[in-house]
Amino acid sequence: MRPEKKQRYLPVTDKDHGCGQIVYHAFRGTTIYIVRGRNGDMMIDTGLFHVRRAVRKWARQYNVKYIFITHAHADHDWNAKSFGKAFGAKILLNKRDLGLKNNYQTLKPTRKKYAFKCFQLNITGSLFSSPRYKVDIAIEREGGALLEKLGFDGEFVFLPGHTRGMTALLCGDTLYCGDAFTALFGEAEIPPYAMDIKGMKRSLEKILRISPKWLACGHGLPVKMGDARKVIERYLNE
Ligand SMILES: [Zn+2]
Repeated sequence: MRPEKKQRYLPVTDKDHGCGQIVYHAFRGTTIYIVRGRNGDMMIDTGLFHVRRAVRKWARQYNVKYIFITHAHADHDWNAKSFGKAFGAKILLNKRDLGLKNNYQTLKPTRKKYAFKCFQLNITGSLFSSPRYKVDIAIEREGGALLEKLGFDGEFVFLPGHTRGMTALLCGDTLYCGDAFTALFGEAEIPPYAMDIKGMKRSLEKILRISPKWLACGHGLPVKMGDARKVIERYLNE
């Protein structure tokens, strides 16, 4: 049984997956993370409507004061409004994804085999949009200054390509990378879709340069950089 199936509501820690202090909730295809802070905790992404109740229940054990949306795709920000209210939390999103919130933009397949899925996604994506939410803090710069102010040790890293505002959080040895990389299909893989494929490739190179120990992706379980590196290098050389 895949760990994702086994662990539905509880954060999986070192014992289960060997990924140290990464606190996450992997359920029905989306993975939500919690990063602990000095003045409250940060939830990373919120999932679609079908995980709302489970994620809310799980997150209640933390002191969620901030919700960081890695990028404004519906499967990451659908519950932003609801969780913002439920936890009294401030919502953070990259300035470059503000216009995307309720405005679908066409994605391109990153490999030929994803072309049909991408076509379907562009149809459903243009029909659905997340409940409107207010962004309390628009992320304008990379680095740690804003996070320091909020009580977190870490830095924002911009990884445009999947969307223009795709943003990761580098915290210790983990890069919480949203859809800049994925484990959607149960193993390390290039995200199947991107708004700008060239930009995404540059961001993959940036991930190689940062070379964290773990990539905590928006879909699937955290991936070891060693596994991701092979997939990224192969893709960039194709
Ligand atoms: Zn996405």
